[in-house]
Amino acid sequence: MTTLLYSHEACVRHDPGEMHPECPARIEAVLTALAAPEFDGLERRDAPRASVEQIIRVHPKPYVDQLLAAVPESGRRGLDGDTILSPGSGEAALRAAGALCAAVDAVMAGEADNAFCAIRPPGHHAEPDQAMGFCLFNSVAVGALHAREVHRCHRIAVIDFDVHHGNGTQASFWNDPDLFYASTHQSPLYPGTGAPQERGVSTNICNAVLPPNAGSEEFRNALRASVFPALTRFDPDFILISAGFDAHKDDPLANLQLVEEDYVWATNELIAIARHACGGKIVSTLEGGYDLSALARSSAAHVRSLMAA
Ligand SMILES: [Zn+2]
Repeated sequence: MTTLLYSHEACVRHDPGEMHPECPARIEAVLTALAAPEFDGLERRDAPRASVEQIIRVHPKPYVDQLLAAVPESGRRGLDGDTILSPGSGEAALRAAGALCAAVDAVMAGEADNAFCAIRPPGHHAEPDQAMGFCLFNSVAVGALHAREVHRCHRIAVIDFDVHHGNGTQASFWNDPDLFYASTHQSPLYPGTGAPQERGVSTNICNAVLPPNAGSEEFRNALRASVFPALTRFDPDFILISAGFDAHKDDPLANLQLVEEDYVWATNELIAIARHACGGKIVSTLEGGYDLSALARSSAAHVRSLMAA
């Protein structure tokens, strides 16, 4: 079966500024890696824009309107110290959220087993009414609610192995027992949320914390001991992955010690759970990852596993 790759050139035109780690070159690094002959089997599609109707399942309409209105015609506008808008930011954020919705549609239609969205800005820090941590719209949450509203998937899970806790996704899912969010992340680290005691309205949140300098063994143990059993118990109808690659040992923003093989292992384990629970249906999306070489190698390893599913 096919793996779909969604991206859009607009994702390169969101430019938070020279020296900002969440830079346009990230997408170029990922897409260059995925241009190698071994990825010829990917079916490549342009991400459509998300509609306002799709985004307001997660974010209140006034937030969406204010965010898009804040996009400057020239120069830059900071929403906080590290979340910065440039003239291309609104279009990039709409395409990023739209990629998730289109990927969910295609996988639900049986056009592919799974899909990877090579998009930016990332989304998992964006809370319903607060942009933060480089994130504008919470694309993975928009995709999750799209799967439920349009495709009647009852129970949706998001698994997040970015090195940072996805506070925005957790906030969006907290009160809904049919939405499950699990995260492995370094602690202490930005944004400071994600303690194991944060369990959601019906233990539908699962946080596994890793101390600075933890590596492959601790990461795999955390997934095996808490995330995978909780995910299996939840019995999802659809799985989304917040695939950040900033827990890699070469990443400059954090202190974990993962290598590409850890992403292969985690992806393969999630594929096995998805096959059992929901016919293998997975949509994965890029979140963080700030060492360009590690990001390229890690995302290639992740997509290689999706293609072999
Ligand atoms: Zn991150």
